[in-house]
Amino acid sequence: MRSFFVASISAAGMVFAVPAGASDCAAPEHAIGLERIVEVDASGGPLFGALTKQQREPSFLREKEVILTFDDGPSPWVTPRILETLERHCTRATFFAVGKMAVAYPVIARDIIARGHTLGGHTWAHPRQLPKMSETRAQNEIERGFAALDAATGGGIAPFFRFTGLNDSAPLLGYLQERSIATFTVDVVSDDSFIADPAELTRLTLKRVEKRGGGILLFHDIKPATAKALPAILEGLKNRGFKVVHMRHRNALTARQELVANYRNKVAANLAKSPDTPRLMPFYGAISILREANAATPSGSRSALPVAVVSPAPRDRSVQKRKTKKKSSRPRPKPAAAEEVLPWKKKNALPGYEDTRRSHNAPKAASTTSWQYVGPQTAERAAPYLR
Ligand SMILES: [Zn+2]
Repeated sequence: MRSFFVASISAAGMVFAVPAGASDCAAPEHAIGLERIVEVDASGGPLFGALTKQQREPSFLREKEVILTFDDGPSPWVTPRILETLERHCTRATFFAVGKMAVAYPVIARDIIARGHTLGGHTWAHPRQLPKMSETRAQNEIERGFAALDAATGGGIAPFFRFTGLNDSAPLLGYLQERSIATFTVDVVSDDSFIADPAELTRLTLKRVEKRGGGILLFHDIKPATAKALPAILEGLKNRGFKVVHMRHRNALTARQELVANYRNKVAANLAKSPDTPRLMPFYGAISILREANAATPSGSRSALPVAVVSPAPRDRSVQKRKTKKKSSRPRPKPAAAEEVLPWKKKNALPGYEDTRRSHNAPKAASTTSWQYVGPQTAERAAPYLR
């Protein structure tokens, strides 16, 4: 299913691991590749991205630059395919992973880092409205999410966070600032939570990116349509002259060790269960070799790409704490033009069509397996409306 390692057995019976990506990016001149690296210093607790009402930093992206981000994984049914596509297009992305998912699929979480991508946090169990929870519970969700990622990967997590449903609040941003964690909202939404047709997803994403001239793009690596559409989206971006910027972290994340300890046994059990484990186990050393291999960018050595360091001074978030409204602070995107009012945007207009962001964020989700994955059956039901 996936090709983390291409293993071969030598005459001596030794098994060698070869990073799968090494040969996948064979034609960097035809791929979108990477334009440059932006190293984000999270120590001041900055907030990036347009979709917020909170005080945010100016965009560090230039015209026609994009950052690819994937939320809600890692998932065995989508993430490996996305990783392979990114590898083939010689490019890199940032994954905002759900702690629970990373504990369930630690091999994939490790693969994300091993392939040179950036892995940040997106809470432990994806409650939809952190600002509506008590501050203690909301902070606990954030901390448990990072701790789970730390346990799942053995380290290397970026101090980068994305609020679930993009619902942020000044007090929680203040907390993230105390923890030296940078927060990212988005500039362009793909709406891949709603669109099951890869062609439509591609069309709409490219249209929105073009309209905005680039920015931080939001996808979900739990959506099969996203994996299917990604090659066409990357090709479309390249053809339109867009460049991908890779974000990496400057300072290390300090996960709460007492929380990390809670997840270690479960991670070990899931690693042992993984079908990849027999191939992975002999090469624990190979992960660090892979990391080194991927430290080099597809077009050559890492130093060949320009690196810009973004290091915003901390803002005074305490002033905003008093002004915080009860209501969600996320601004609604402007209503699209008449022909762009899509069926799944209209309430109850699409019988049987599920807002999967709602269903998989159901607070009662007790385990990863209870997450409602809405896949092909939804696509079938939605098909008449997507034409
Ligand atoms: Zn999410």
